[in-house]
Amino acid sequence: QAAFSPEMARRDVPALHRTVNGHPLVWLDNGATTHKPRQVIEALTGFYGTANSNIHRGAHTMAREATEAYEAGREAVARFLGAPSPDEIVFVRGTTEAVNLVAQSWGRGNLGPGDDILVPVLEHHSNIVPWQLLAKETRARVVPVPLRPDGQIDLDAYAGLLSMRTRLVAVGQASNVLGTVPPVREMTALAHRYGAKVLVDGAQAVAHFPVDVQELDADFYVFSGHKLFAPTGIGALYAKPEILREMAPWQGGGNMIESVDFTRTTYAPVPHRLEAGTGHIAGVVGLLAALNWLTSFDRDAVAAYETSLLDHARRALTALPGLELLGSAPDRIAVLTFTLAGHDPAAIADWLDRDGIAIRAGHHCAQPALAHYGLKSAARASLALYNTAEEVDQLVASLSRLQQSG
Ligand code: PMP
Repeated sequence: QAAFSPEMARRDVPALHRTVNGHPLVWLDNGATTHKPRQVIEALTGFYGTANSNIHRGAHTMAREATEAYEAGREAVARFLGAPSPDEIVFVRGTTEAVNLVAQSWGRGNLGPGDDILVPVLEHHSNIVPWQLLAKETRARVVPVPLRPDGQIDLDAYAGLLSMRTRLVAVGQASNVLGTVPPVREMTALAHRYGAKVLVDGAQAVAHFPVDVQELDADFYVFSGHKLFAPTGIGALYAKPEILREMAPWQGGGNMIESVDFTRTTYAPVPHRLEAGTGHIAGVVGLLAALNWLTSFDRDAVAAYETSLLDHARRALTALPGLELLGSAPDRIAVLTFTLAGHDPAAIADWLDRDGIAIRAGHHCAQPALAHYGLKSAARASLALYNTAEEVDQLVASLSRLQQSG
């Protein structure tokens, strides 16, 4: 493993070296998606250039090679998440599809009238809406878990909401809107006392700190590759083997069957039973390259660096008059969501874009979390391992100019 410096990471990522509106790009929209290292780009062009084939069928060399690459990706994801076996990893399009898969497959089979699904107010819409759809179908209830004023989940309120009716807790491991990192391990232990399962949305966590699904004791864990320096359109679901084995197909098609007959069709074992149709083979190859790239760095050093960058950013931003950061809880990833008195978030993003600085403005697909602060919209700068203190200073300087402009 190499030591870590942001310059080492930056060297590998070509998009970071372009200009936007005449300025060197400052990419502070990593919560939306990350830029890709050349290792990922080369893995994709390499696959399509010389290794392209469908998998799991066709007795020829390239099919075998593509199958091996795909399954090597599954093994890498299992290792990355601390899962005991690659058989517990299902490839999906991303976090959203993984949550919908769990809702439609496990949820339909295990929820009924009067059952509760506990969902923190903090959650991304993709970890709220699929549960609402499922609740409507099964006549279960989605119960919001309140937030404390500092943006952390109210653990006492959570403990009070758990009951023998709770079937599932769906919680993000890091919030895309506040950056807060909830006490997922404690939440899981409490849920399990009532026999409830826990789905952990790792979309915002995986790029920032090492994850161990066994240590978390998560029943389900989901993430998207594109927030982890990998291509869009690929992500993964982990589920405990005893749960996964019982999960019914959610989509039918090729690759997921054992035998098809008009009187009786039987299904392949998991994980293949849950992967109907041709998967995103190149995406898996790209994901493998991204995992290799990220884990080539000392991840504790990466996390420590991001924390120091976050501290620097928080200090510099709060020094701006009229700037308010959302969520003050100490456990967090490097996400800074803020309002600036007298300036609409969309106008802030526009202003910064003119300086080549990319942030996000809007509701961040977490309307209930913003409503907790009485807001409909906010500006968000989200950092990654390749961002620097100089970039943060450029953000602060540009915001300061905006204030001075009136
Ligand atoms: N959960 C969280 C916490 C997220 O930040 C996101 C993406 N913004 C998602 C889920 C959804 O991810 P995707 O759009 O890649 O499916």
